[in-house]
Amino acid sequence: MIMETISGHDAIVTTPPDYEDADEVISRELKYADPCPGCSGKLLDIDDTAEDYRVECVNCGWAGPCRSNCADAVDIWNERTK
Ligand SMILES: [Zn+2]
Repeated sequence: MIMETISGHDAIVTTPPDYEDADEVISRELKYADPCPGCSGKLLDIDDTAEDYRVECVNCGWAGPCRSNCADAVDIWNERTK
C-alpha cells in the first residue's frame, strides 16, 4: 500500500474517487464505537500516530487496546464497553 504524505495545511488535496482518506476512515469507524466506559462520553478519537490504531476518549483519556486497523480497534473498544 502506498501512503501519500501531504505536508502543510495549504496543500491542495486532490482525492481520487477510489482513494479513501485516513481521516474519513477514522470518522466513519468511530460512528460504530460505543460511548466511553469511563465517562460515558461520546467524543472519541482514534490514535493512529503509531503503526497501530486505538480508540481514545477525548474527555477522560480512556484508551482501548491497539489493533492493526481502525475497524478492529473499534471492535475491541466495544468489547470493553460491554
Ligand atoms: Zn471517557
